[in-house]
Amino acid sequence: MEKMYCFECNKKVYGKIKKEKTTYIIHGRKVVLDDLVFICSNCGTEYNYEDIDEHLQKGYIAYLNLFGLSFEKLKEIRETLNLSQELFAEALGWSKKTINRYENGKSLPQKEYLDTYISLLNNKSNIYSILKNNNNLTKEKYYKILNRINVEIDFKSINVILYILNKVKLNRTQLMKYLFAIDFLNYKLFNKSISEFKYAHATYGPIVNDQDALINLLIKQDYIKLESSFIDNSMLFVPLQKADLYNFNEQEINVLNKIINNFKGMSANELTDWSHAFIGWIKTKDGEIIDFKYAKELDI
Ligand SMILES: [Zn+2]
Repeated sequence: MEKMYCFECNKKVYGKIKKEKTTYIIHGRKVVLDDLVFICSNCGTEYNYEDIDEHLQKGYIAYLNLFGLSFEKLKEIRETLNLSQELFAEALGWSKKTINRYENGKSLPQKEYLDTYISLLNNKSNIYSILKNNNNLTKEKYYKILNRINVEIDFKSINVILYILNKVKLNRTQLMKYLFAIDFLNYKLFNKSISEFKYAHATYGPIVNDQDALINLLIKQDYIKLESSFIDNSMLFVPLQKADLYNFNEQEINVLNKIINNFKGMSANELTDWSHAFIGWIKTKDGEIIDFKYAKELDI
């Protein structure tokens, strides 16, 4: 038996605690909570047993649960985007204080804020359109955020692909050879690759490691689409966006152009034959990553 002050009996009394399901309306949504009720064993009067803050918190949590969210999840959504509270706030055009309060369970997101969280929970890459629609960001801030966001492929790697495809439609085998040649040539000249891709040994020459995941992602996120070629019925990649070269220096753009000009008009077979002569391919086994140390052997 618990003890509590009863205002009817005007003294501290013993009583029982019971759970009672109560429906609340929070932001227009019905939320059912287990309220703890104290019943005076003297006169039967019922009192709320929890303090208001605790009770409110329970309501918030139940409300967020309706959307598959929790306060921890709000923080997680930001962290999976690799953004600090400050950058996340700037990306969304919210105040940092607001985000802090949400993540600490101090206040409940209003409908439009909640919608943003839900959209990011469903698809992280929605952050791109949020950024594009945020007119208050300076160019520097925009790219700073873009470069930090970690949505499976980094922004620059995506734009290497878009740049190539903006100039020439390619099938899968061709695209893989272009990417490989660009990164290895840049590595040979400047000791670093342009994209963040790793390349693996495959039958038809080097390919981006995990190329299927890459292609699926690019299609799913509307960067590219597949189109049937009139010439040989193979499937060609067509870009759906223009490349954004803000992060590229002049040397890198020269390397991109050099490979595109050199390879233009070469069939998948010709590119495969060319890549089979590369020492880095010859010296690795199927599926093995081709080390960039072989870049100096690249003959272009
Ligand atoms: Zn009483």
